[in-house]
Amino acid sequence: MLELNDGETTVRITLFVEVILPLAVAKAYTYRVPHEWNAHVAVGKRVIVQFGKSKVYSAVISRVVDRPPELYEAKYILDVLDDSPVVTETQLQLWGWISSYYLCTLGETMQAALPAALKLASETRIIAAGNEVDRSALNDKEYLILDALDIASELKVSDIVKLLGQKSVFPLLKRLFDKGLILISEEIAPKYKPKMKVFVRLHSDYTDGVGRKALLDSLDNAPKQQDAVMAYLQLSRKQPDVARADIMEASGCSSAIVAALVEKGVFMTEERAVSRLGGEDVEITGDFTFNEAQSAAFAGIGRQFAEKDVVLLHGITASGKTQVYIRLIEAAVARGQHVLYLLPEIALTTQITERLRKHFGNKLGVYHSRFNDNERAEVWHKVLNNEYQVIVGARSAVFLPFRSLGLIVVDEEHETSYKQFDPAPRYHARDTAIYLGHIHGAKVLLGSATPAVESFYNARSGKYGFVTLAQRYGDAALPEIVTVNISEESRKGTMFTYFSATLLQAMEKALAVKQQVILFQNRRGHTPLLQCKTCGYIAKCIHCDVSLTYHKSSNQLHCHYCGFTEPPLQVCPACGSTHIESKGFGTERIEEELEMLLPNARIGRLDLDSTKGKYGFERVLTAFDEQRYDVLVGTQMVAKGLDFGKVSVIGIINADGLINYPDFRAYERAFSLLAQVAGRAGRRNSSGQVVIQSYAPTHRVIQQVIGNDYEGMFMAEVAERKNFGYPPFFRLFKIEVKHKEQQAAHDGALRLAILLREVLGHRVFGPEVPLVGRVRNFYIFGILLKIERIGISIAKVKEQLVAVLLRFESNKANKGVRVQIDVDPY
Ligand code: ADP
Ligand code: ZN
Ligand code: ZN
Repeated sequence: MLELNDGETTVRITLFVEVILPLAVAKAYTYRVPHEWNAHVAVGKRVIVQFGKSKVYSAVISRVVDRPPELYEAKYILDVLDDSPVVTETQLQLWGWISSYYLCTLGETMQAALPAALKLASETRIIAAGNEVDRSALNDKEYLILDALDIASELKVSDIVKLLGQKSVFPLLKRLFDKGLILISEEIAPKYKPKMKVFVRLHSDYTDGVGRKALLDSLDNAPKQQDAVMAYLQLSRKQPDVARADIMEASGCSSAIVAALVEKGVFMTEERAVSRLGGEDVEITGDFTFNEAQSAAFAGIGRQFAEKDVVLLHGITASGKTQVYIRLIEAAVARGQHVLYLLPEIALTTQITERLRKHFGNKLGVYHSRFNDNERAEVWHKVLNNEYQVIVGARSAVFLPFRSLGLIVVDEEHETSYKQFDPAPRYHARDTAIYLGHIHGAKVLLGSATPAVESFYNARSGKYGFVTLAQRYGDAALPEIVTVNISEESRKGTMFTYFSATLLQAMEKALAVKQQVILFQNRRGHTPLLQCKTCGYIAKCIHCDVSLTYHKSSNQLHCHYCGFTEPPLQVCPACGSTHIESKGFGTERIEEELEMLLPNARIGRLDLDSTKGKYGFERVLTAFDEQRYDVLVGTQMVAKGLDFGKVSVIGIINADGLINYPDFRAYERAFSLLAQVAGRAGRRNSSGQVVIQSYAPTHRVIQQVIGNDYEGMFMAEVAERKNFGYPPFFRLFKIEVKHKEQQAAHDGALRLAILLREVLGHRVFGPEVPLVGRVRNFYIFGILLKIERIGISIAKVKEQLVAVLLRFESNKANKGVRVQIDVDPY
């Protein structure tokens, strides 16, 4: 209790807390603290509060104040959940920045930042009221629920949903409630619990040779118990405490056997929280020395960091950037600082994590979206408690509760998967990392063989430091790149379905000498478009304005936007014709064709479909690394910084789709992807060959890739973007207006555009129908804002934008129209 002695009288202060609710409410909400909890509330702790009529939430305290809110009477907080803060003040500062920069609410940012296990869900429990009733008067479902409650005494709504096999159970429950047969209670239970494991230790009477022999002799009549003791002795050589599960596995005995030994006083057991994350007892191995270029780059980065907070390392593929990062991380760790190593994709984490583990052992933590909630919460706590010093993670790792970050490495900084498109916050992890570094006073290193145009521009203009690594490590040279003109080859009859003779020969040659091949095709599935030859009907998603892709593995048509599936077309639903034509081809189709063309090759596939599950990527990548596959067919996932020693041929099945994509960054993207895929070849000594198949092989982007001419690409892009008003010269805001009715979406978009033009004039473009005009049953109209970088206050623009949106919402005509904003939508 907090009491101030104010002269004569003792004044008891009334405290209030401003909290962030896990909702898209615009403002922090204020609650009153009961006096007895005055000493318990603190910024960063979670409290339970009621919001709205009856909903209960866990919310994070963002401020403790001694003034009540002016506009409403504050409700009391219901409970304080944490003994110490789970969110740090720097994190709150970062959330604030994200919310104002990306124009979203603090609640939305918190939703993205906190692992689910730290966000408490209010789960409704159902209990039987205990009244005697005539059950014959109940219908089947009501009977079933009461019957289940007799056995379980308490059920969650989710259990009842499972029990009845139907989604909506609320009306049913309400009826039972009204009849007085059940009680409904809302409970908030902390979801995160550390994983417990039982450890076994031998009683000290038996630890010396004599005792041990006596023990084993005494167990001659109990051979299974003897086995268990033997297993313990074997396993306890390193450590006296052995996991019970390990003993059971090694000896093949049951837990009852262990229990019997505990009963006899031979074993003692103890339950302990263990990490779910594995990674204990890692030997630290694998030292290396820099080559000259790496030493120079390392020194260069050090010098640049003395002046600049952000440095861009432009190092060609396989130049050994990762080793440079490792040395920098070592230095920061030696200073006692935290380090964040950001990676764009989960696909890459496995390889990089293994490389980093050799150097940082148990100090290394991994954080990404394929970890389950409990694992994510565990990493969170370990960072909070300083047990991890180095964190490798995908974009959401920027949200961890770092104490004293010294260095952030953003590997493959050009990657688009750093950007979160949906839901809000629509943040870019690289840019967020730069701000995060700023809060901590940490240095930020961006690394790439093909930097994003805006990053290279920032380096050129002196905003960032700049260091290059222009040669491959060791004797490896950049691979030779050849192009194949698909139309010419077709005319000559040297195309075998999707493969040119050139590519096939290169593959055969490689496979003959036990080298490996990577094939890149930027579409997953089997056939992206099925069309009726008679009437032109196209199989489309019923919820979205996109064609359905046929997947052979599931034998279904799939929508890649919403996940809708339906059986493949046999007969045209429009005209009844059976002439269905397939157009285009995805990775499954490539795999299938290849099985016929190279029947002896062992083929693996790396795409979203083949890598489901937590270890999906690992499975495929490890198999390829161990040469259990000769060929890896994949989408852009194969372009993500993977390091394999035996790959000598890369085939790009069709480069045109990348280049002709309607987006201002299409050329930059195509250059990056092609250069990165090519960079997977010949990474250790052996030379590599890349075959690019295209209908337009003389296109400037392809020529720039062949010439390894990043600068050429950069200069051409910068000139275009200056002319047409794109980044890095202009800021973009993408606004999407959505409604289930097309007309309502269109009218809403027109009204919004008018309001926007009132304040921003010619900077407003649209509304227009985007590439995909309907997704998940919502019609979409897009409005684009282009705001010049110089001579205009971006803060002011954002203010105006928010004001316009408020005006838009307050107009009744716009009821039900959804508006979403994407700041830097690329
Ligand atoms: P990048 O990240 O620039 O694409 P990597 O760091 O993956 O390149 O290096 C390419 C390959 O060369 C890797 O297999 C890496 O282990 C090896 N390598 C790079 N630098 C060294 C070094 N100094 N000593 C030993 N091996 C190195
Ligand atoms: Zn038809
Ligand atoms: Zn769909």
